[in-house]
Amino acid sequence: MKTNEIIEKYDQFVMHTYAPAVALTKGKGSKVFAPEGMNYLDFTSGISVHNVGHCHPKVVEAIQQQAATLSHCSNLFFNEQQALLAERLSRLSLNGKCFFCNSGAEANEAMVKLARLWGHDQGKYEVITFYNSFHGRTLAMLSATAQEKVQKGFDPLPVGFAYAEFNNLESVKEAINEKTVAVMLEAVQAEGGIHPATPEFMEGLRALCDEKGLLLLCDEVQCGLGRTGKLWGWQHSGIRPDAFTLAKSIADGVPMGVLVANPKLSDVFQPGNHASTFGGNPLASAAALAVLDVIEQEGLVQQSEKMGKLFKDGLALFVEKYEQVLEVRGTGLLVGLVVEGRAKDVVDACRDMWLLCCVAGEHVVRFLPPLNITESILEEALEMIGDALNGLFGEDD
Ligand SMILES: *Cc1c(COP(=O)(O)O)cnc(C)c1O
Repeated sequence: MKTNEIIEKYDQFVMHTYAPAVALTKGKGSKVFAPEGMNYLDFTSGISVHNVGHCHPKVVEAIQQQAATLSHCSNLFFNEQQALLAERLSRLSLNGKCFFCNSGAEANEAMVKLARLWGHDQGKYEVITFYNSFHGRTLAMLSATAQEKVQKGFDPLPVGFAYAEFNNLESVKEAINEKTVAVMLEAVQAEGGIHPATPEFMEGLRALCDEKGLLLLCDEVQCGLGRTGKLWGWQHSGIRPDAFTLAKSIADGVPMGVLVANPKLSDVFQPGNHASTFGGNPLASAAALAVLDVIEQEGLVQQSEKMGKLFKDGLALFVEKYEQVLEVRGTGLLVGLVVEGRAKDVVDACRDMWLLCCVAGEHVVRFLPPLNITESILEEALEMIGDALNGLFGEDD
């Protein structure tokens, strides 16, 4: 089908929760292709899903092989791929146990349920989250996401969340009461505008949680798995959370969410407490194992750090050049460019130059290239962004 035919069918049959601008049929590395054959540089990576690039041969092979062997078997039975993946994730992080589901919101729900069950006998259930956070679109995660624009129209929202200011430890202290069970945050607030937590804040939170007997929970759905130039976002500080969640990039587009807990929390859930039909099925787990292999073998965490620096240096030149471009933010390859006007205008202008990027709030353009991006593609992208900004803000023509 051509793009306009696809759009017609969307108009008729797909609920209008997004407003896409182009149709895509094919991807390879950092490139994606439209039905008419044009190609774009993809600096959205499926919103931080393709950390290893589109259709990485190792991941494709793992998916093909597993699909032809055993794609699903339910959690009524053991499967080897889930066992191997849980071991891998545990050893790479908290040395505890994992629970598998299908999305970021669902993984966060599992994490909050775990915290509630853990605190239940002491009457503790309230989770402190942060203004500008994003934790997903289920009803409870709307409550956790302290942004009016996602909550509006869906009240009454589930209770059990209190809000504090990001990077402000005093504000967290004020939000704590006898019902508080946990503090949950993104090490880098992504959807909320690319705001990294300071190491002092993370370390202060860890100490505060230890002092008050609270759990520290990290939502690593977007900032995990190398995106920020460390394997885990919290590693920019010296702390470790009690549990964290993954989704987006873990299985390279095969839907998967994961809750990873430390040993203290690893046996809180017992049979009957929580479940997921698809969670950790052989297909998604095989894809995730291949993703972890690629990240390790190709040194993508280091690559993310190195390319992130180069990219931010390049973008900083635009801050000098245009007064409408205010700031470059972010770590690794989770990068935001703050503009005075609407970020969407910059996204549209970049698309006209054959570069796909997205927004993170009103004024922040978000770039999420694959972590195995090369220097020459990065330079190509900077030229496209430069042309886009010149078209919008340049005075020469
Ligand atoms: C995308 C995202 C989610 C939600 O993930 P879904 O798979 O869309 O449910 C949750 N938390 C963060 C930090 C995210 O970026």
